[in-house]
Amino acid sequence: MSELAYPYEAPASQALFDRAAAVTPGGVNSPVRAFRAVGGTPRFMVSGTGPYLTDADGREYVDLVCSWGPMILGHAHPEVIAAVQEAVARGTSFGTPAEGEVALAEAMVERVAPLEEVRLVSSGTEATMSAIRLARGFTQRTKVVKFAGCYHGHVDSLLAAAGSGVATFALPDTPGVTGAQASDTIVLPYNDLDAVHAAFAAHPGEIACVITEASPGNMGVVPPLPGFNQGLKDACAAGGALFVSDEVMTGFRTSRAGWYGVEGVVPDLMTFGKVMGGGFPAAAFGGRADVMAHLAPAGPVYQAGTLSGNPVATAAGLAQLRLLDDAAYATVDAVSAQIQSLVTEALTKEGVAHTLQNASNMFSVFFTDRPVVDYEGARAQESFRFTAFFHSLLANGVYLPPSSFESWFVSTAHDERAVQRIADALPAAARAAAEATA
Ligand code: PLP
Repeated sequence: MSELAYPYEAPASQALFDRAAAVTPGGVNSPVRAFRAVGGTPRFMVSGTGPYLTDADGREYVDLVCSWGPMILGHAHPEVIAAVQEAVARGTSFGTPAEGEVALAEAMVERVAPLEEVRLVSSGTEATMSAIRLARGFTQRTKVVKFAGCYHGHVDSLLAAAGSGVATFALPDTPGVTGAQASDTIVLPYNDLDAVHAAFAAHPGEIACVITEASPGNMGVVPPLPGFNQGLKDACAAGGALFVSDEVMTGFRTSRAGWYGVEGVVPDLMTFGKVMGGGFPAAAFGGRADVMAHLAPAGPVYQAGTLSGNPVATAAGLAQLRLLDDAAYATVDAVSAQIQSLVTEALTKEGVAHTLQNASNMFSVFFTDRPVVDYEGARAQESFRFTAFFHSLLANGVYLPPSSFESWFVSTAHDERAVQRIADALPAAARAAAEATA
């Protein structure tokens, strides 16, 4: 431990965690925050500025989680904060339509060509849940195809073989989801078009939609193989189903128009969250106008929300989107590429078998020397090396996602000083990964 820059104990975080555990299941409000996959005390953060988070013990970390994606401009960006303060001063929720919702929807539609109409909601889970209901209502069919390792929020029917926390804790499924809900979900291996064609052949006229992460980040970063998303789109068109592209993680992050902007495959429906909310609970689903016309009050498929299009959330999201111009994406892409090479360099130097995968500026490291194309491949890695790598970086002031099944995220605020701190911490972390035992 002599080369660690910080003492490893986190007494203030531990005291908060003990308090939390008395009143909250597992001490957290979202499972992956609990550090169960890597062990140790989850850090309770008290503030964030630019690329840094500061915990309850007063330690500063370079943040490579960025709130799991939303903070693409870094923490407390002055223009986003100003927009929020201005909105808050005018009231926090009206329960009526308001201009901010229109402006945010317009900004999204302007950037993402397949998005003809948008409905705002409050979380990515709500977005995918509503998109699935709409797809079923529109097609009058029941079955949904999803891919192992893809996470679409904690929607009952979509939790089968999900990534993110479900993968982190190796939960095959979850109690509380009924057999009927699960039986309408067909789970296929990711990047396997033959399996998709076989499913359509086995269930003619029954599949309402195929939902996929536009480029998965919830089993680590596993981009679609060339032609996979287009193949899904074609299979859906041939089989009378809708193609639903979940851009909650990739939307407005992997490019100005998200993963759609990278690949150009046109979905029937899309879902969004994270970046579009500027750190507030805002999310959305949208797509073809003729499909969206089936939503209440225009059509019969019911969907609603007390806080949908909340004025503070829409102000934050709009401010963030306005700042995300081509130069901002170039900055995020460049800093991401720089950190990716530093990680590769450090692990290679220590002879640690690894594969670093990226989808534009999203990336993650798999502790295996085989390219990962599906969930099975992701699970075959030596996760115990990640645990050692994670704790060494944490102890030296770099905050990674506490699981090897998650994407790392950077922001426009990750400047030279932040990158240097990562560079300084990496050699010890790579050594720890090399020395780790199962
Ligand atoms: N879809 C994807 C691709 C996600 O990554 C997530 C969350 O990580 C969700 C949906 C669910 O979003 P939320 O956590 O806002 O409910």
